[in-house]
Amino acid sequence: MKILFLDQSGKPGGAELCLIDIAKPYQNNCLVGLFNGGSFKDLLEKNQIPVQVLTNKAIQVKKESSLTQGIASITQLAPLITKVVKIARNYDLIYANTQKALVVGAIASFFSRRLLVFHLHDILSPEHFSQTNRRIAVYCANRASLVIANSQASKKAFIEAGGKADKVEIVYNGFDPQTYINKESEIKQIRQQLELDDKFIVGHFSRLAPWKGQHILIEALAKCPPDVAVILVGDALFGEQDYVKQLHQQIDALQLQNRVKFLGFRHDIPLLMAACNLVAHTSTSPEPFGRVIVEAMLSGTPVVAAASGGAVELVEPGINGFLTTPGNPQELTEVINSCIQDKQKTAAIAQTARNSASQRFHVVNINQQIAQLLT
Ligand code: UDP
Repeated sequence: MKILFLDQSGKPGGAELCLIDIAKPYQNNCLVGLFNGGSFKDLLEKNQIPVQVLTNKAIQVKKESSLTQGIASITQLAPLITKVVKIARNYDLIYANTQKALVVGAIASFFSRRLLVFHLHDILSPEHFSQTNRRIAVYCANRASLVIANSQASKKAFIEAGGKADKVEIVYNGFDPQTYINKESEIKQIRQQLELDDKFIVGHFSRLAPWKGQHILIEALAKCPPDVAVILVGDALFGEQDYVKQLHQQIDALQLQNRVKFLGFRHDIPLLMAACNLVAHTSTSPEPFGRVIVEAMLSGTPVVAAASGGAVELVEPGINGFLTTPGNPQELTEVINSCIQDKQKTAAIAQTARNSASQRFHVVNINQQIAQLLT
């Protein structure tokens, strides 16, 4: 099976990191076509996955775009579509990994007569996408032979937006548990490097964006004991500079400058997670899947997540983690405090999470599910 993967992003968000694991087994028989250059291309190359940047022109359409903007952008896409049609003739299948890739992939699949598969990594709800974008996505996805949804929550929103239920299969993201095993000495060293070795570290791992809710964690921190510190791991990948400014202002106003560290985008997530005493996920809108939640589990670090979207499919509160009401800093403060107080119970929960996540999300099982769906 020869696969042409398509992804619009030059930056490695969750969908892109997931694609690396999916494309790897096909590395001798695939091409990843990107609509942007950037560090995602470098990551694919590092993983020996063939990659080509197919256009240097930015696609103007945004998540909130109107119909006129949407149609205008489709006409701009003509050279890219022509290129994809030509390349697709050398492959059996077009695998669209993002929404813009879906639009290009759907048209290219029509002209090249190749099958189309869409991997849905988003919740197609009004909170996340304009009506026009939802309509275009659903129209194109309904023409695919298969839609792979990354959670029940994503599947449900797709069907509610008009997607055909019989096209959708749920496949969670896969992970290699080995990647999340760290040496005690390295964990100790990184805590020292962060100058937080005597602190209770709460880690937040996500791009800096309002709906990822870093501000909720900062607010919760203000009510925690002084030996609690926060690391914010991730960058403003899609231009959310105003939000970054707001976060700094909030930290200054609460006088938390010495207790919050911005680490930027990092490639050593497993080690950083292992160095934390707790990982907090604080999205204020439903999370389609929530890779960071599973990664925390695999790292053996307790995790607290905002109870919405895919997160509730991953966390059973009190069994393999904790849940809070989205946007509620008080509940988050309570969870942090109870983890500090009841270390033994918290460690047992983290261990249960590690054991179950290692099986449930093992990349080998997940890749088998995908391979079966593609045949
Ligand atoms: N991530 C990373 N470096 C960072 C911050 C995040 O590699 O500095 C990774 C994180 O480990 C996770 C992904 O980015 O695998 C984010 O995926 P998630 O599903 O949590 O959110 P998304 O970006 O898809 O909204």
